[in-house]
Amino acid sequence: MRFHRRTVLIAGAAGAVGAVVPGGAVHAARPDIGVTAYAFPLAAVRLGAGPFADNAARTHAYLRFLDPDRLLHMFRVTAGLPSSATPCGGWESPSTELRGHSLGHVLTALAQAWASTGEAAFKTKGDHLVAQLALCQRPNGYLSAYPESFIDRLETGQQVWAPYYTLHKIVQGLLDWHQLTGNNQALTVLLRKAAWVQARNGRLTHTQRQQLLRVEFGGIGETLFNLYQLTEDPVHLFTAQYFDHAQVLDPLASNVDALAGFHANTQIPKAIGAIRGFHATGDTRYRDIAVNFWNFVTRQHSYAIGGNSNGEYFQAPNRIASELSDTTCECCNSYNMVKLTRQLFFTDPGRAAELMDFYEKALYNHLLGAQNPNSAHGHHCYYVPLRAGGIKTYSNDYDNFTCCHGTGMETGTKFGDSIYFHNGTTLYVNLFVASTLTWPGRGITVRQDTAYPETSTSRLTITGSGAIDLRIRIPAWTSGAQIKVNGILTGTPAPGSYLTINRTWAGGDTVDISLPMALSLEPAPDNPAVRAVRHGPIVLAGQFGATNLSALPTLDPSSLWATTTPLEYTAGSVLLRPFYKTHGQRYSVYWNVAATVATEARYPFDEPSGTVAIDATGNGWNGVLAGGATRTAGRNGSAVLLNGGSGYVSLPAGILAGATAFTIATWVRLDAATTWTRIFDFGSGTGANMFLTPRSGSGTARYAITSGGAGAEQRIDAPAALPAGAWTHVAVTHTGNLGVLYVNGSEVARNTALTVRPSALGVTGQNWIGRSQYAGDPYLAAAVDSFRVHGRALSAAEIAQLHATGQ
Ligand SMILES: [Zn+2]
Repeated sequence: MRFHRRTVLIAGAAGAVGAVVPGGAVHAARPDIGVTAYAFPLAAVRLGAGPFADNAARTHAYLRFLDPDRLLHMFRVTAGLPSSATPCGGWESPSTELRGHSLGHVLTALAQAWASTGEAAFKTKGDHLVAQLALCQRPNGYLSAYPESFIDRLETGQQVWAPYYTLHKIVQGLLDWHQLTGNNQALTVLLRKAAWVQARNGRLTHTQRQQLLRVEFGGIGETLFNLYQLTEDPVHLFTAQYFDHAQVLDPLASNVDALAGFHANTQIPKAIGAIRGFHATGDTRYRDIAVNFWNFVTRQHSYAIGGNSNGEYFQAPNRIASELSDTTCECCNSYNMVKLTRQLFFTDPGRAAELMDFYEKALYNHLLGAQNPNSAHGHHCYYVPLRAGGIKTYSNDYDNFTCCHGTGMETGTKFGDSIYFHNGTTLYVNLFVASTLTWPGRGITVRQDTAYPETSTSRLTITGSGAIDLRIRIPAWTSGAQIKVNGILTGTPAPGSYLTINRTWAGGDTVDISLPMALSLEPAPDNPAVRAVRHGPIVLAGQFGATNLSALPTLDPSSLWATTTPLEYTAGSVLLRPFYKTHGQRYSVYWNVAATVATEARYPFDEPSGTVAIDATGNGWNGVLAGGATRTAGRNGSAVLLNGGSGYVSLPAGILAGATAFTIATWVRLDAATTWTRIFDFGSGTGANMFLTPRSGSGTARYAITSGGAGAEQRIDAPAALPAGAWTHVAVTHTGNLGVLYVNGSEVARNTALTVRPSALGVTGQNWIGRSQYAGDPYLAAAVDSFRVHGRALSAAEIAQLHATGQ
C-alpha cells in the first residue's frame, strides 16, 4: 500500500555544504562512518544495450511525458494558488489521502535520469517543479498536496492514511534534486521543510511520537540522517532520531524475528534508516538492527524471486509454499531491500556472497520483470503474484500512481548505481550488466560487454592505465568459474567470494569472466516438494497462456529439457522461460515436484571453458574434463572433444550406486571407430564395471556389465559397429532383466536375461566417458554431447524423442 526512497553518492568526501562537484553533484559534508566501499556517481556509469537500458528508456520516456501542472495541481490547490490543470487520478486523485507522493518520486527519478544521461530536458523539468513547489510552501515550512490538518488527525489518533510517508517522498525528492543536480533552491525548500518536521514533532513527548510511528511513515528518518550528513546540523540528527521506532527496532537489536504480522514495506525503510543512522553516528546498535533485519527478511521471509510479503504483510518465518497468492511480493519491498543491501555492502563489502547474490536475485527476478515492456512509458506492477496461474498487471499514465508506480520510476533510473564500487584503487565489479564506467579523476574507463544472463560470460575492457585492485564477484550459485586476463587464466575463483586481480593495467587490457550456470530446483522451506526452477540466478516460470490454474502444476525434473533459446526449457508441453521476461500471460513460478529426484545427471558440455562439466539437472553431479579433453562444436551448443590419446571425462563416484534400473544416453561423433574404446565405462576396475564400446572384438557395438571380471560379463551385442564421422545417438536402458541397446532412436538389440544391475557394482569410483577400466585399451577419439544418466529405464518412445529432438 505504500512506499519510499533515497541515498546518494555521499560516502566519504568531505567538503563545504552545497559545494557542487564536477557533474553537478553535491558531496556530503560528513564522511560516512564504518564504510569501506563507495559508490560511483550515477554520472560515471552509462548503461550499454540490454534489458536494463531498455527499461530505463521507457522510464525516461514517461518522465519526459508527465505534465508538471497536473502533478502540481493539488499542491497549488492546497496552498490556495490557482490551478486549472486536470487532476491526476488513482492515488493522486484530489480525494486520496496519499496525494502528492508521486511528485517526490518524480523528482528523485528526474534527478537520477539527469545524472545518468545528462539530458537537459530532465534538468529543466525538475528545476521547474522545485521552483513551483517553493511557491506552494507555507511560511512555517509545511509543503504538501494535502492540508496540515492531516497531521492534526495523526497526532490525535484519528484515521488518516500515511501523511509522513507522503512527506518523505517529497523531502527525499528535494534532497536528491539538490545533491544530484546542484540546485540550491531544492535545499532551501528542504531545510525549511525539515525545520517544520522538527517543530511539529519536537512539541510532542517521546511517548506521543512513538505512538505516531505506528502509522506508516516511509523513510523520512533515513532522509533526515542523509540531510545531517550533508549539513552537519545536529538538529537534523535528532530530528531523524524522532523516527527510531522502538516497537520494531528493539526486537531487531536483540536479534529476534518478530516481523510476522507487520506491514512489510512500512518496516524496511526503518532498517534503511538504521544503517544510515550507523553511518551518521557510528552507533553499532543501528548497524546490528539493519543487519539482523536483512538476515531475517532474506533468509526467512523471501520468495525465490527475492521479493517478500503476502497481502503486504510479513508472515511467520519460512512460510513460502503456504503463502502464494495474487498479492505477494509488493515491488516497493524489493526496491527497498536492494537499497538496504547496497548500504550493508558499503559497511561490509567482504560479505559479497550473500549481499550481492541477493541483490542480483531481487534485481533480475523481481524488479527487472516488474516493468511492462509493452508499454512505452514503463508501466509497473504493484504486486507480483506468485500463486499458480497468476498474471502481472501494470499501472498507467495518470490513473494509478500507486507506491510501486513511484518506486518503479526510481528503479528505472538508477540501474547503474550498483554495478561498480570503489575504495582507493580497489574496484568492485558486482553485477554483470552492459555498461561503461568512467572512473572520476583517474583517466580510466572500464567497459563491460555482456548479454548476461542470456550468456554466462562478460568481458571488461580497460582504457587508460594505472593500478587497479580489481575484485570480481564470483556468485555462490556458479561452479567452474574462470577469469582470463588478456586471454590467460588467472587465479582460482571460489564461488561466494571475490577473485582479486591486483596489477597495473594498460589500455586495451581485457578480463573475460565466465560464470557457468546450472539448472536447480529451489525448495520452499515449508514444503520441500514445492520448488522453483532456476538457471543460475534466473528464476524460470512455466508459461500457461490464458489458462488459469487452481493448484500448483506438477513438474517431473527428468522431463526438463533445454531448448535452443537461452534460459528456456520445456517440461512436457509447458515452456519455461525467465520470469523477468514473463508478461501478458498466466504463469507458475512454483511447482509440485512429486518424487524426490532420482539419481539423474545431464551433461550438455556447454560451459564456455574450464574443466568442469556441469550437471544441468542441478543435482550437483558435476564431472571433470581430464587428460586434455577440450570442447568443440556439438550436436547442441558445444560438446566435449576427446583426442584419442589421453582425454576423458570423469563423473562423480556413486553416480549409479544402488540403481536397479537405469538409462545412459548420449550423442557421439566418432572420429575413429577403434576397437575396445569406450563411450562410457563405469566401474571400480576390471573386476566390476559396465561399459559401452562402439566396436568390440567381434566388430560390433556392445554393452556389457560384470561384477566378476571379463569372464562373467553379460552383454547386449549390436548388429554393427557404431559409424564414424557422423553424430550418432546411442542409448542403453535396463529394467528388470531387460536390457535394450538403441542407436539413433531405434532398438538395435536386447538381452532379456540381464541379471547384473548397477546395484551389484557397489559405489563405483571410476566413472568415465571415453576411457576403459583396462589400462591397455585405447582412449576414445570422438566428440560427445548431451550425455545423460537416469535412475530409470526410459521408454522406447522417450529414447526416440531424445534422438528426434537432438537432446
Ligand atoms: Zn508499493
